[in-house]
Amino acid sequence: MEALEKLMPKLMDEDITVIIKPQLNPNKKKHILVMHDESVFYANDGKKTYWGPKDHAPLNKKGNGLSLHISDFLTEIDSHLKFEDEETCVIMKPGNNLEKAIPIFEQKYPDSIGVFAFDNATSHAAYAPNALIAHHMNLNPGGKKKFKDGFKSDGEIQSMHLSDGRPKGIKLVLEERGLWKKGLKRICSECKIHLPTKNDCCAVRILSLQLDFAAQKPLIQEIIEDRGHKVIFYPKFHCGLNFIEQFWGAAKQFMRNNCDYTFKGLEKMVPDALNSVPLIQIRKYARRSWRFMDAYKKGLKGIEALYAVKKYKSHRRIPNNVINV
Ligand SMILES: [Zn+2]
Repeated sequence: MEALEKLMPKLMDEDITVIIKPQLNPNKKKHILVMHDESVFYANDGKKTYWGPKDHAPLNKKGNGLSLHISDFLTEIDSHLKFEDEETCVIMKPGNNLEKAIPIFEQKYPDSIGVFAFDNATSHAAYAPNALIAHHMNLNPGGKKKFKDGFKSDGEIQSMHLSDGRPKGIKLVLEERGLWKKGLKRICSECKIHLPTKNDCCAVRILSLQLDFAAQKPLIQEIIEDRGHKVIFYPKFHCGLNFIEQFWGAAKQFMRNNCDYTFKGLEKMVPDALNSVPLIQIRKYARRSWRFMDAYKKGLKGIEALYAVKKYKSHRRIPNNVINV
């Protein structure tokens, strides 16, 4: 991340309305950090009692009522990602706005590389349906799944399907690579729980260690990298790294003050709420996240990190001597 950070525009510590351009070598492109996150907006968020038409059953079984699941992307440079009238935020079918976000990013920041930051949630580690995942393959020919082509150690392309279209299965794929051993099980008990200790315990393990299978990336990484951008997954259990979390908080406050607490009102108001958060506020959130990142890098944890981040409020970094606080 440090190497990428040097390529990114930064906010000036003393005045966050000022952006400092990165010093770029002629062969380097500017990078821009794009934070992704999802959040749920509730129609009656903040209201203790539900009100609505008499013949409607109360909708707030869990205390929150109807909700919209929103996914959005945020930069510290220009607020949430949009270009002219096109906004990136979408009401979710989970994970579907990346295809929308990348073209908007490219229009807004031509000649820049996006560094798209996601949390480590399982949905983000999902693979394309035809990904080379040994766990998804049968031992023998047959099955409904389709797989993309792989390659052998000499670089020769290898189809995962027979001429009749059925998947070859792990055994035949390994045979064609000269790696099949008699009596090999499809999968052993260790690999079933994804905790292998040996490299040749079963057929799934042997195939998954092959270069083409080992290099298989999650779908969002494939989509982003295919377009020439980058992806980072920030670590679990490190609070404060994603500044979009505070952005959600501010947008929800706007909803509480302005929403009429109906589902229609909710749908109409969410985009206004996202646009209501001033850029200067977002930059303060971002600066706080950079401080958290710096604190974790300097080895501070939990309360210590929080203390340092609060104490050095108007800075992007924590001074080096703070380690002894
Ligand atoms: Zn195994």
